[in-house]
Amino acid sequence: MRKGRNISKRWLLIALVASLSGCYPDESLNIPEKDNDVTLTELDEYIEEHFTEEYDMAIRYRYVDRYVATGERVTPPRLEVVRPMLDFIEKYWIDPYLEVTNGEVFFRGHVPPEIIFLGGFIYNPDGTVTLGSADAGSRITFTNVNAIDPEDLDWRELQLQTVYHEFAHTVHQRYKLPASFETITTAGYTSAGSWYNLTDDEALIRGFVSPYATSSPNEDFAETVAFYLFDPEFDAHFITLEEDCGTAECEAQNTGKEFIAEKLAAITGHYKKVTGIDLTELRNVIQSKL
Ligand SMILES: [Zn+2]
Repeated sequence: MRKGRNISKRWLLIALVASLSGCYPDESLNIPEKDNDVTLTELDEYIEEHFTEEYDMAIRYRYVDRYVATGERVTPPRLEVVRPMLDFIEKYWIDPYLEVTNGEVFFRGHVPPEIIFLGGFIYNPDGTVTLGSADAGSRITFTNVNAIDPEDLDWRELQLQTVYHEFAHTVHQRYKLPASFETITTAGYTSAGSWYNLTDDEALIRGFVSPYATSSPNEDFAETVAFYLFDPEFDAHFITLEEDCGTAECEAQNTGKEFIAEKLAAITGHYKKVTGIDLTELRNVIQSKL
């Protein structure tokens, strides 16, 4: 087992202070190895064994303001929600990858080295709130962990949408977007910072699963993967065409759905080709756990 570096350093410091102040006899500097272990909490041991050693993935739940940009306000999670949150990401994110064909090799080869748990949301200087984030595949941040309730659909969807979205970014970062992906709905992308002016329905008519997906082809890719994996009603919402359209809006929605179907086909083909993973198999495994 590898020791937490901070903890060993803290012991060194205590030992140094003790020797300088002469409070303890010299023998106290020979701290037996097993005594060092008591400074690792049971939670730290669990994280070390199940995440850090197992996947090379660090879980940050203390001093979280180190992991956000200057000016962003965050709080760390309460200690008692950390273990349930670990169980949650294991069940709905890690396990499904381990269970599908070619999924384990992919997961282990693309794990983000850092996972951050925040107690609440990220409050930005401009007054907006960030729900979740990822930095170029190196870090995934979960927000609102203090409100953990896997049975609460809204809470669960926020977490799953975040992690599937962020993890999907690793695919285009490593292997590019599917060929011609950005040409499927070229005209539908929004100019910088204006995606939030669209409604869900306007996004659908343009051929996107969400307003945020219109912000760039990369976000479109990640959003489409995320919705496909977590939304039990994905087909009804985004694929199945209305047969008896009586209105122009209904016809426009059908056109949007045809674009989404085209994107999904490009994405599933790309996953199969570059990762060996059948995204539909992954979706089925995830859906069976919900
Ligand atoms: Zn994104």
